[in-house]
Amino acid sequence: MKAVAVYPRKPDSLHLAELPEPKLDDIPDGKGVLVKLLRCGLDGTDKEIAAGEYGTAPEGFDFLVEGHENFGVVEAVGPNVTRFAPGELVVSRVRRAGSSLYDLLDMPDMTTDEEYFEHGISRVHGFLTERYVEDERYLILIPPGLKDVGVLLEPVSVIEKGVTQAYEVERRLKVWQPERAAVLGAGTIGLLAAMGLRNRGLDVTVFGLDESPYLNSDLVEALGARYASTKQTSPERAGQSGRFDLVFECTGFSPLVFDGARHLLGKNGVMVLSSVTGGSRTTEVPSDAFNLDMVLGNKVMVGTVNANRQHFEEGVRDMAVAEARWPGWLHRLITHRIHGLDNFGRAFEALGQPGAIKVVVEIAPE
Ligand code: BGC
Ligand code: ZN
Repeated sequence: MKAVAVYPRKPDSLHLAELPEPKLDDIPDGKGVLVKLLRCGLDGTDKEIAAGEYGTAPEGFDFLVEGHENFGVVEAVGPNVTRFAPGELVVSRVRRAGSSLYDLLDMPDMTTDEEYFEHGISRVHGFLTERYVEDERYLILIPPGLKDVGVLLEPVSVIEKGVTQAYEVERRLKVWQPERAAVLGAGTIGLLAAMGLRNRGLDVTVFGLDESPYLNSDLVEALGARYASTKQTSPERAGQSGRFDLVFECTGFSPLVFDGARHLLGKNGVMVLSSVTGGSRTTEVPSDAFNLDMVLGNKVMVGTVNANRQHFEEGVRDMAVAEARWPGWLHRLITHRIHGLDNFGRAFEALGQPGAIKVVVEIAPE
C-alpha cells in the first residue's frame, strides 16, 4: 500500500513509499484492530520533519511515514478485542509505550525514556497511508456526530493535557478559581486552547501576530473570547490592564515564554509551555527581574507534550460541547482539504500559508 514518507534529517525528501498491508496478527494476543484511514491532518511538526529538522525512522527502515493526526474506520478486529467493532470510527493515540514506569502505567506521554515512540514522528510509522493495525488500548472511539471533525482530536488532546496539567499544578493552592486566561498564539493549538478554556468558563484573550479582522480572530470572537494583535499590544502593555491566572503558550516563538511569564502571568498563576521549538534561537533575558517576579509571585511554569487516553477522551467531550455550543466552529478550522495521498506535495505546500489553519489530506471516502 501507498504511504507518504521522508528520509529523516534529509531536507525535501518527501516521497511515496510502499508499505506491506498490515494484518491483525501483527498485534499479539488477538488485540489487533485493523483501521482504514479516512483522513489525516498536518501540522508544524510534520513540516519540520519534511524540512529535515526533526523525526526518526523506525528500526529497520531508512524512511519514516509521516502524519500523526489520524482518523479512520475499523475494518476488522482480533478475537480478543472488546472495545471496538467493524464500522466504528476511531482515532489512534500518537505515542507508544516505552519502558519507564510511566509507560507501564499507560502514560507514555510522561515517559522518562530518552528514546520515545510517536507515530509519524519518532520510531513508528505515521498515518499518511491507507491502513494500520494497532492494539485496541491505543484507540479512541469517535461518536458518529463528530465524524466531520474527528481528525482534529489529536491536536485537541494536546490542549486537554496542557489545561489538565495547569489545574493539577494549581491544586497546590487548594482553592484555585481561575477567571482570566491568555493564550499566546492563534494557530490551531491556540484556537483549540481558547475553545477548551471557554468550555471551562474562563474569560479568554488570544494573542496573535496578525491584526484583526481575519479568519483566526473571527474564530476567537465566535467563542466569546477576545483577540489581541501583538503588533498593536505588547505583552507588557497588555499585562498592565490586568494579569492572567493561566497563560497557555503555543506560538513556537520561545522568547515569548519569558515576556509572557513576567508581564502577563498574575500572582499564583500557572503558565503552560507547549511549543515544540526544534530550532536554535537564543534571546537575552533580564534574569534577576524574571527570577524575582517568579519567586515573589509564587508563579509556576509547566511543560507539556503529547497526551494520554484521559486527554483524548476529555477532548471528545470538549469537541461535543463545542459542536453544541458553537455549531460549525470546529469545521471552520479545516481550511484546506487535499484529496488523495498522491497529492501530498500540495498538502505540504498549503501548510503555513496565509489563511491556512488546518490542512487535511482526504485519504479515502467514508
Ligand atoms: C504532536 C505531539 C507530539 C509532539 C512532539 C506534536 O506535533 O501533536 O503528539 O508529542 O509533536 O513530537
Ligand atoms: Zn499535531
